[in-house]
Amino acid sequence: MLGSPLLKRPDVVAGERTTLAYLAGLLHAMPAESDGLRLLARLFDAIPADDPVELDVFFGQLTRAIAQVAEARRVAFLIRDDDRAWLKWQPMAYGFPDDFVSRARIPCSPTGTALLDQVVFKDFILAGPIAEEPAFAPYRDVLQPLDAAIAIAVPWRAGDDRLGALVAFDPRPPQALLERHTWVLRVAAGLAAIVWQRGRAERMVTERDEQEARRLRAYAGRLASLEKAKSDFLSLASHELRSPLSVLGGYLSLLADGSLGDLPPQLGQAVPVMLAKVNQMNVLLTRMLETARLEDSRLQLRLERLDVVDVVRQAVAAVEPMALPGQRIVLDVPARPLYGLVDRLRAETIVQNLLDNALKYSPGGTDVRCTVSRQKGFARVCVRDQGIGIAAADVPRLFTRFGRIARDEHRHIAGTGLGLYLARELARMHGGDITVVSAGGQGSEFTLTLPLVTKPKR
Ligand code: ADP
Repeated sequence: MLGSPLLKRPDVVAGERTTLAYLAGLLHAMPAESDGLRLLARLFDAIPADDPVELDVFFGQLTRAIAQVAEARRVAFLIRDDDRAWLKWQPMAYGFPDDFVSRARIPCSPTGTALLDQVVFKDFILAGPIAEEPAFAPYRDVLQPLDAAIAIAVPWRAGDDRLGALVAFDPRPPQALLERHTWVLRVAAGLAAIVWQRGRAERMVTERDEQEARRLRAYAGRLASLEKAKSDFLSLASHELRSPLSVLGGYLSLLADGSLGDLPPQLGQAVPVMLAKVNQMNVLLTRMLETARLEDSRLQLRLERLDVVDVVRQAVAAVEPMALPGQRIVLDVPARPLYGLVDRLRAETIVQNLLDNALKYSPGGTDVRCTVSRQKGFARVCVRDQGIGIAAADVPRLFTRFGRIARDEHRHIAGTGLGLYLARELARMHGGDITVVSAGGQGSEFTLTLPLVTKPKR
């Protein structure tokens, strides 16, 4: 087949350079009479300005423009089917009978020797009469409805990617076929390759975006189910632990106050320790229960008009026993009460948590300062310590559920990572907030704000 008079191996071949360089080379090599610039201008007019390019619209307009410029009755792009050894017709072909492009398929394989195999896989250009040439025999049946006397086919390549071929058919006599017609098709195939490449790049970006979105959705789904598992566990564990713990606490209290008779001396010393541990577990359990309620939207505040200073005093009194020997909570409060609408127990819990942390995370036993003041309609409760501090990178995790900061040097300090989460949620439910200023190794300052009621109720 290589010796066929229909086939010509061109000087400028796509794939040996970038598609743009190929196109430029093609235009340079065009014979003067082909009037390359005008031709190119007419073909360019056919490219839709849309961004991203709608490939079907583009092929529709380009095949029509080629037909006009090359004076061919029918023009089509044949697309290689990667999986099967054939060429399909691009649906927006110009000038073909109804149904032809959707049905007709042309065998084509890299190892084949038929005319189109040489065009698609070996870069040959085909131009000539259909009727007389025996080399056209394999295509005669397919091409029969086209009523064509001459055919031109040029390779359609984008770099190394052999996309297929651009073909034109016309009923004119073979002698009317000019070299110019082949050039038109070659330039048009180069243009189409550029647009195709761009379209493919856009498709790849979209596919990547979609893949990324799918990955993120799956990840979010997994996170949501993990969160749900955590919530379910909190709810279940706190409910199941509540009654045995209260029974245990009840009996220990009876033992401690002597209601169950005198205790042997060693037990007498152990009972207060056990009671303290049960109380610690109760605090933990209350936090778990409150968190479970918060997440099920069952947490309701019991608001009453109260002096915030008084609430803070109560919290200090409750937390003071946890201080290390010599460690103090220095309280600085205004002389006048600061009234707010607060849930006493919850507000105390918030302040207790801040104070408890301040003591706990000051392993050197340094003092903790608690200052209450009024600021722009809010009570400000500032808890300042000189303890281990918090690195800036860790701050975003502080108020998250189970957000403990794992550092070797204070891994031994017990905690759940629920305290600050709950404290801030409760503060926000009151219309206030908690903020923090801290730096690693330089102590921390947590500030709780709670809205004040302006006019005392009578
Ligand atoms: P925990 O029960 O672990 O103390 P919290 O929610 O109260 O839980 O606190 C979350 C984390 O914030 C703690 O594990 C700790 O790492 C850090 N943190 C809280 N308060 C302080 C503080 N005053 N100084 C240093 N780190 C703190």
